[in-house]
Amino acid sequence: MKKLCVIGDPVLHSRSPLIQNAMLRSLDLDYVYSAETVRKDELQDFLEKAGAEGFVGFNATMPHKESLVPRMDVLAEDAAECGSVNTVCIRNDKLYGFSTDGTGFLRSLTEAGIEISGRKVLLLGAGGAAKAVSLKLADGGAASVTVCNRTLDRAEQLCRLRSGALYAADFSPQTLLRCARDASLLVNCTSLGMLGTGGQFTDFSFLDALPTGAAVYDLLYSPAETLLMKQAISRNLPAYNGLGMLIHQAVCALEHFLDTQLDHRRMSAVARQALEHQNS
Ligand code: NAP
Repeated sequence: MKKLCVIGDPVLHSRSPLIQNAMLRSLDLDYVYSAETVRKDELQDFLEKAGAEGFVGFNATMPHKESLVPRMDVLAEDAAECGSVNTVCIRNDKLYGFSTDGTGFLRSLTEAGIEISGRKVLLLGAGGAAKAVSLKLADGGAASVTVCNRTLDRAEQLCRLRSGALYAADFSPQTLLRCARDASLLVNCTSLGMLGTGGQFTDFSFLDALPTGAAVYDLLYSPAETLLMKQAISRNLPAYNGLGMLIHQAVCALEHFLDTQLDHRRMSAVARQALEHQNS
């Protein structure tokens, strides 16, 4: 039996084992996927022993995504550009690092029937997730992506990666209102709205400025209907949470582990069913 896992600290709350084991079972593959607590100072030791312990790959969450970058033998282009690795394949004692967040986001938009080509996007946040998402939107043909962030410097730094497609702005209510006027997609990549520690939006007037039919996508998936989504729905705007992204980045990771293309829609359905079954 081949072994896969997700490493992190904390990691025991991760839904990756549930999602990945359901997909592996549906493919009738003899793999097992576990959650392994690996502290920050234990990462190097884990990397040295993983192959010998039978792991053929792993996912990574906090606090390892950035620390893995310099430790890879081969790094995929988007992982290098984002400075973040969330999927590692171990092949012939070599570590291959990937970032699947951006692709997961794009695939979830496709699944939701949202075409990005030609869209003007208002993107909130400039952290790790915002970087992966904004670069994929720019490369995927969005007409423009305005990145609004509390720390303007951080947005400016991100936007330099695709000048001409990404535009930096601040996070004041006035700026958000102005930028929303011609946006047909709003993506929340901040941690605002996250259960527990994330803080909350205090002003939703930017939603009133969005054109009719503009879609609102919140990267958060807990709670399943965030306050931003509730506010969007009350204004008749279609709203989506980040569960699709979570699922599709997992499908993309499994494609790397197995080194093969999978039927995204089928795998996504299997993962959703496993999550629903757990919640019922
Ligand atoms: P991160 O690197 O820590 O970035 C956090 C972002 O939120 C920064 O832009 C930060 O602004 C902004 N922010 C935090 N508190 C704020 C406040 N009070 N007011 C305004 N802005 C604030 O985190 P991340 O890894 O990018 O993740 C962002 C969110 O996406 C998290 O909630 C995470 O759970 C979610 N996510 C979901 C998926 C998925 O699969 N659905 C994948 C990845 C991430 P500053 O730069 O000013 O600090």
